[in-house]
Amino acid sequence: MNNWRAKLYQFMQGRYGFDAFGQFLIIASMVVILLSNLIRFRFVYLAGIALLIYAYFRIISRNIYKRQRENQKYLALRAKFSRKKKGGTVNNWKGGNTNTGYGPGAAGGNENENAQFSFYRCRNCGQTVRVPKGKGTIKITCPSCGNSFIDRT
Ligand SMILES: [Zn+2]
Repeated sequence: MNNWRAKLYQFMQGRYGFDAFGQFLIIASMVVILLSNLIRFRFVYLAGIALLIYAYFRIISRNIYKRQRENQKYLALRAKFSRKKKGGTVNNWKGGNTNTGYGPGAAGGNENENAQFSFYRCRNCGQTVRVPKGKGTIKITCPSCGNSFIDRT
């Protein structure tokens, strides 16, 4: 009954198998093939198929050292990209009104909770706006007048 499993196990002995880069290749190939269906451009479809073949080639490859190098390169690239994304973007944040408050327990707000917020005075209307601390560079929108400004928390 589990014969095919045993055969698969035997087949996979000494072969590389699946990794993060392999996962990325499979997903990328699916996206490209789907896209090629939408835009009906044959080259895009072939590129998707090529990605898929490459993904399967890596899984059954016996050159484990080379595949691990590829995966490490991919992971390094991904880490670099996500760092860049984090540093480069400005998050939008709708500031909480200190009177009506924002979130649970905002009215009155206990000491412990206030310690997690930074307070800003709106440069347009003077309303005190509170935003959570440690969000990096954020765009704060005043709840009273809708004026927005960029600041660090
Ligand atoms: Zn304002």
